[in-house]
Amino acid sequence: MAQQQPQIIILPEGAMRTQGRDAQGSNIMAAKALAAMVRSTLGPRGMDKMLVDDLGDIVVTNDGATIVSEMKVEHPAAKMVIEVAKTQDEEVGDGTTTAVVMTGELLSNAEKLLEQGIHSTVIARGYRMAAKKTQEVLERIGKPVGLQDKATLKKIAATSMTGKSVGESREHLSEVAVSAVTQVAEDLNGRISVDLDNIQVEKKQGGSVTDTELIKGIVLDKEVVHPGMPKKVENARIALVDGAFEVKKTETDAQIQITDPSQLQAFLDQEEKGMRDLVDAVVKSGANVLLCQKGIEDIPQHYLAKAKIMAVKNVKESDMKKLAKATGARVITRVRDISKEDLGNAKIIEEVKTAGDEMIYIRDCKNPKAVSILVRGGTEHVVDEAERSIHDALGVTAAALEQGKYVAGGGAVEIELAKELRKYADSIGGREQLAVNAFADALEVIPKTLAESAGMDAIDTLVTLRSKHDGKDGVNIGVNVLESKVGDMAAKNVLEPMKLKSQVVKSASEATEMILRIDDIIASSNKNMPAMPPGGGMGGMDY
Ligand code: ADP
Ligand code: MG
Repeated sequence: MAQQQPQIIILPEGAMRTQGRDAQGSNIMAAKALAAMVRSTLGPRGMDKMLVDDLGDIVVTNDGATIVSEMKVEHPAAKMVIEVAKTQDEEVGDGTTTAVVMTGELLSNAEKLLEQGIHSTVIARGYRMAAKKTQEVLERIGKPVGLQDKATLKKIAATSMTGKSVGESREHLSEVAVSAVTQVAEDLNGRISVDLDNIQVEKKQGGSVTDTELIKGIVLDKEVVHPGMPKKVENARIALVDGAFEVKKTETDAQIQITDPSQLQAFLDQEEKGMRDLVDAVVKSGANVLLCQKGIEDIPQHYLAKAKIMAVKNVKESDMKKLAKATGARVITRVRDISKEDLGNAKIIEEVKTAGDEMIYIRDCKNPKAVSILVRGGTEHVVDEAERSIHDALGVTAAALEQGKYVAGGGAVEIELAKELRKYADSIGGREQLAVNAFADALEVIPKTLAESAGMDAIDTLVTLRSKHDGKDGVNIGVNVLESKVGDMAAKNVLEPMKLKSQVVKSASEATEMILRIDDIIASSNKNMPAMPPGGGMGGMDY
């Protein structure tokens, strides 16, 4: 009888494993499929996607970050590409489609090299060299932009919104976005820092997108607590309180023994006096507006109203922080200690009915370090897309200021980078050279896709673009999508922050390298296993 071979099992039952080229193939295919899906949305002539969730709710957008985050993707490699889009969104706020398309193309080109027998570590090394070189070239061709240069900033903001359905209102929205960002920007010895958390974006359906407004202050989706209070206060002196105007509940279960009615009255009187003292402290400080993070009970409401103080309760903590930055007030916990120095200022505070709901506008603060944008639009979908447009515009404006540089869009910068990379590739030799060239080709997917979206012949356009860039003053020549021709994109006001491109190159190349290095996929159960898609479809992806 033959000896039974001992079998060593290290994976649990039901676990699945794909190795080597199969694993690489499956990952690359998934990433490519994802890139192919969002690719048609790129640029001003990009198409929109309609996403329908389990409940039948729909989102119509051409925003790459929104599309990939709303889509249910199961393939692990596709999820890694989605991370690229998310990082891009967090770091810059725009360029998400570009980042996903670029990652797909880098992987696609890597696949060709793999087929030629070039090892993935060589490709990864070449890509890393190319990415580094790209950053150097970007630094060199980027043009400076600063806080004073509002015209350029507006062009950058407007470029981020082309293709979004906000169309007509682009001019207005870019004005709003640039004013907001330059208002909250801080100059730290020549380095500009922008904390976008200091720009509150509120949506309110109704009106039109051109009614979108920058408020040099904060908007609260709240109302004045008591009908006897003023609805409008000019030259407001604002108290910000994060405690409650209510009778302190005892922490422990204390019992108060009351034996006759007069004691009860005395007890109530004392409570009322406590409340009145709190209100008196506010009055004494000179405040005429009280914004409170917690509740305000009926009795203090009554006294506040009598003192003609406008009060708002249950303001969100995050809004309190912004209010402090906008008005210069200090948030007070112990109301009894409040003084004149703690108060903030605003030219006007008013409650206004906006599209059927009361809202409180704290307007015209003096040099506020936090501001608000109230986004308007006729329907829910319009408001949402307008909000996404504002998000992109704020992101690119901040990114342009933070790195202080911008480049020409419409694929111009990608062609220029590809040209410089090819020169560089010639200088390095070895097999990495092939990878650097593959990286250059991958960059050109952006102008190529833009040309296709404009109905132009992609190959012819690339050839023209390359030869223009070889000539003098060719650096800004790109695809003028709106007129379906090749031209100077800076002259057409199509400008993008340099940071957007450097972030794309950084995250796309990092994700590509990570995916290329995987030669083994081990899934704990069959369910998590990305299937090798038959006939080039997308396996394991559910959408
Ligand atoms: P992303 O999610 O990557 O920002 P977009 O759909 O916003 O994708 O498209 C961005 C691309 O469109 C950029 O390459 C940008 O330069 C280009 N672009 C924007 N406006 C124009 C225009 N008017 N003409 C040509 N290209 C443009
Ligand atoms: Mg964009």
